Amino acid sequence: MRFVVVGGGVAGVCCAEELCRLQPKDEVTLVSASRVLKGVSVVARLSRNLEELALVERRLDELPYPNLRLDVAAGIDTEGKALLLGSGGRLPYDKLCICAGARPKQLPPAVFRASANGAAAADGSPAASNAQHAKQAQRDGELAALQQRVLTIRDTDSVARLAARLRRSRRVVVVGNGGIALELISGLKGADVTWVMKHAHIGDAYFDLDAAQFLLEELQHQRRRVAAAASGAVGADRRQQQEGKQQQGEQQQQQQSQNEQQHGGDDPAGVSGVLGHAVGPRWVQQLPAGAGAGQNGGGSGLGSVELEYGAEISAIQFAPADGSQGQPQQQQPEQQGAGTAGSPASVAAGAAGAAGEGPWADRPLLLTLTNGRQLEADLVLLAIGVRPALEWVPPGLERAVDGGLRVNRHMQSSDPCIYAAGDSASCQWAADEARHWFQMRLWSQARAMGIYAAHCMAGVQDQTGSDMAFELFTHVTRFLGKKVVFLGLYNGQRLEAEPAADVVTYSRIDEEPEGRSFVRVLLLRGRVQGAVLIGSTDLDETLENLILDQLDVGGYGPHLLDPDVELDHVFD
Ligand code: FAD
Repeated sequence: MRFVVVGGGVAGVCCAEELCRLQPKDEVTLVSASRVLKGVSVVARLSRNLEELALVERRLDELPYPNLRLDVAAGIDTEGKALLLGSGGRLPYDKLCICAGARPKQLPPAVFRASANGAAAADGSPAASNAQHAKQAQRDGELAALQQRVLTIRDTDSVARLAARLRRSRRVVVVGNGGIALELISGLKGADVTWVMKHAHIGDAYFDLDAAQFLLEELQHQRRRVAAAASGAVGADRRQQQEGKQQQGEQQQQQQSQNEQQHGGDDPAGVSGVLGHAVGPRWVQQLPAGAGAGQNGGGSGLGSVELEYGAEISAIQFAPADGSQGQPQQQQPEQQGAGTAGSPASVAAGAAGAAGEGPWADRPLLLTLTNGRQLEADLVLLAIGVRPALEWVPPGLERAVDGGLRVNRHMQSSDPCIYAAGDSASCQWAADEARHWFQMRLWSQARAMGIYAAHCMAGVQDQTGSDMAFELFTHVTRFLGKKVVFLGLYNGQRLEAEPAADVVTYSRIDEEPEGRSFVRVLLLRGRVQGAVLIGSTDLDETLENLILDQLDVGGYGPHLLDPDVELDHVFD
């Protein structure tokens, strides 16, 4: 049997390793565009379903796989059962698994507005034609320079680009409201940040209003603490602690960037511009303080954070040289070429990047938001979600609404010899089967899908029980340095059709000497459906069991979370 796996991220590596383990006599080929491979290790097992994971990176050539290959998958000959390689070769397979990850979503081209006027009136003369070409080139250069100021985060390379740009940026706009935006906000120091989100509260993908409020207060607490420490309002020993931590952080950063360089982190794309795998957990620590140390940060060097709810960016242009804030120009038909990643215009943007931004280098951006507000910024960081990276996959393979390859219970696409896992896959079958699971593009799910896909490819899925990973949604992460656990339908996902009166939430905040903690549970007709736990609560396992067992605890009412109610005794 010939197995081929495409992708060196968590899903692809877990799938290929599992196939090598299960089928030692078969041929397993991992095709990766990235020299550095990502695997995961379990940092802590918190309950049956809940694990805190860490990413581990290894070089392609360090691994004992029989048949590893650094190449780009460029297409699939589904009739002839061969993967078409970027280098020109064909790789025959009996079973193929696509784990090509996802790319960050970009702003639509029409958002970028050049200030140069429309095309010159052409009278057909050579002079008029030259003038038209010159104007066009000027507009293209301006659009390319605008695009260079809008960055997205995916791989190590994109984090390095962001770090370099931040050193020159005093005012930063972060757009988005998921995990990456939250991490950016906690990690950006020294710049004045405006956080633009289309939702009515922060962390909409993760938090309900009260959890968001808790986190916002925590963000403000932490910023005040650091500001106070920096301005000398706290004792010298506290300051030393901060400095010690900072030095420790810097040493870790150095160590990490050394590791990444040793592992080829300076060349994450590996081959011909295909994105590397998503970055590891410590990427935020690689970000330097912004250039201006924040005008509004009270001299703390921390910078301010301003929130703009219910808005998106509708236009980006360079601020006029005289500093006046004008209305953005109407989109000119010939500006349509601004393009997203991979388009000719973004290639132009890349080329302009190498040559610098020319006359636009020091010009601030002028952003117009959908609520009409205009603001100036030096840099825009875009974290508005991802789209599966499947441009090279034949359109005949069925896609789901989210752009992923639709897979069935055995992780097979509409072609039974082609499987998919991780960010590239769309796994609706699992949500249909398990009431408390839904797909979110995360390491834990990439790993679970990669392993389960390998079991399905090897035909052993019924003996391994690896589909248990799709029983309950779980995610452990850290925001603002605090452990955050999400369980089940923690934010009322999939309960939209239920009568509002049947859904209740109870929350509790504890002020402990070691820090504040927050618990929120969501119940449907007295049965716990989901929970958010921030900080140290010791309730992970109990709440997981309450969700899985669906015991009726409605009788406790709001006292369910009282400290003197011993929830684990409910099971006795
Ligand atoms: P990827 O890790 O993207 O790997 C895809 C692989 O396919 C790469 O090696 C790529 O080079 C390769 N590839 C792509 N196209 C081709 C091709 N044509 N030919 C050959 N190879 C190809 N999740 C969490 O759980 N917790 C977090 O805290 C977290 N933080 C994140 C922070 C950031 C900035 C980002 C971007 C993501 C974060 N995620 C987090 C999400 C998580 O990283 C992804 O869900 C997960 O890594 C997906 O794994 P994957 O293997 O499917 O894809």
